Amino acid sequence: MKVLGVDIGGTKVRMGIVGSDGQVLEDLIVPTEVPLYPYLEMKILQILKDHPEVQAIGIGTRGMVDAEKGVITFETETLPGWQGTEVKTLLEKASGLRVEVNNDANCASLAESMLGAAKGFRRTLCLTLGTGLGGGFVEDGIIMNGTHGGACEVGHTILYPGGHVCSCGRPGCSEQYVSGTALRRIIAEQSIVDENNQLVSPNHLFQLALEGHTVAQAVTQKFTSDLAIVISSLQAVLDMDCVVIGGGVSDSADSWWDLLMNALEPLLLKPLEVKRAKFGNEAGMLGAALLVLSDEKEIVSKK
Ligand SMILES: [Zn+2]
Repeated sequence: MKVLGVDIGGTKVRMGIVGSDGQVLEDLIVPTEVPLYPYLEMKILQILKDHPEVQAIGIGTRGMVDAEKGVITFETETLPGWQGTEVKTLLEKASGLRVEVNNDANCASLAESMLGAAKGFRRTLCLTLGTGLGGGFVEDGIIMNGTHGGACEVGHTILYPGGHVCSCGRPGCSEQYVSGTALRRIIAEQSIVDENNQLVSPNHLFQLALEGHTVAQAVTQKFTSDLAIVISSLQAVLDMDCVVIGGGVSDSADSWWDLLMNALEPLLLKPLEVKRAKFGNEAGMLGAALLVLSDEKEIVSKK
């Protein structure tokens, strides 16, 4: 069986033809255009014309998704008009194929859980440390979606009441402390600069900490300690057997992994495997394909 996996981001749409073993047979990236739906349908129908063997379409997207109905329930002005789009109904009608839709962080978690770092574990929490802090929870191959598609919005758990105001409008969300954007803000607040007097990147910050830069060390320490608190709180709720950490900030995890483990150890209630993600940017597309790849999974989810 071959399926089409589609990952919709704010700037790029990634589309891959994926085989039943999870192998990516063809991989295409196009810029995101708005209004998104007609553009997306056109691109997908083009691919289906070239690949009549494709039997189903999985879509992972920014924003919140009602996975049962395949409707986008929340999206910011980054993709105007996307919120409210009945993607599943429209695309099934246009393509004649089965279509499943879910949130991109959930799709990435599904990919790590079934094919990646957490393969073989039954309950996986995946954290994506990128621009924001995303999360997804997968149990026995099934994504936990929640009532409004908002389960595992880890970045919006409140870490510091009254703290920095989040994009969701509430103060103190963990995304404001544990994400690439948060690190960049803190780097600016602390004026951590390189030899050319330019503010450093998060990855450079971690390097400076290793080299003994005391302010960089304090910021890194706080970052890993905050991340440990997030993981510990989620363990108390989910009792997962594996946590996978991915996203751009995890590219430099070698520099801070030991600090994270040291911070986490005294906070754990039960043993927990903590792993680095296997996949990079392709996780969302692969996970989207997995939404429609496993019939067995579909049967289980409908029980
Ligand atoms: Zn928030």
